[in-house]
Amino acid sequence: MPHAGDVRAGARQGPVDPPSVRAVAAPRFTVCFHGVGVPTHEREPGEAGYWVTRDRFLELLDWAVAAPGVALSFDDGNTSDLEVVAPALLERGARATFFPVVGRLGDAWSLSAQGLEELIDAGMDVGTHGLTHRPWAGLRGALAREEVLAPRRALEDLLGRRVDRAAAPLGRYDRHTLALLRSDGCAEVNVSDQRPVRPGAWVQPRFSVRADDTAASLRARMLDSLGPARRLRNGAVSLAKRAL
Ligand SMILES: [Zn+2]
Repeated sequence: MPHAGDVRAGARQGPVDPPSVRAVAAPRFTVCFHGVGVPTHEREPGEAGYWVTRDRFLELLDWAVAAPGVALSFDDGNTSDLEVVAPALLERGARATFFPVVGRLGDAWSLSAQGLEELIDAGMDVGTHGLTHRPWAGLRGALAREEVLAPRRALEDLLGRRVDRAAAPLGRYDRHTLALLRSDGCAEVNVSDQRPVRPGAWVQPRFSVRADDTAASLRARMLDSLGPARRLRNGAVSLAKRAL
């Protein structure tokens, strides 16, 4: 029977990570897409700048699926979620979270309730992106409840399941609206701050994909987000490069 000395001797023979690398988990990142294809109806000025062509989307998706540190989300509930995104995800065995604008469901450019059910049946998660896409900053009283809380409830009624995740429209929010959502029992709110995932945190940052993004530009933004202070310790950057 081996004694402790044998075990230690055996451990020394295998490859051993430097202690600085073992000390930290690999950073993870969440990407946020909007529409895929050509936007035919801009709801807000500048929206087209966040749509990507189908070819670019597939290129970014292939990179993200191959990168162990990257998770996927899709905001706004555009019809491309079902027409382009879901089939491409399924083809690659990938999963994502979709955040539709609840007040747009069923209009000409957006998913219907049935479309959301199809996404859920395909193994995707669905969260709320508010009622009208009005930013969750400066909202108070009845208006805050109408924009932030009511659509979560409406989505739960529509889908017959709990909706635990939310995404702030245009990435804008304030302490009051976040507190309101938290007191309502929402488990996670996603924003657009370009930072790595914060494991277990209630507010989760994401990287919004822009029309001119490539896998290289997204990867560079993710690595930059680790910041110079973090680069100096724990091998976080080398771990991130492996995760991306
Ligand atoms: Zn949005």
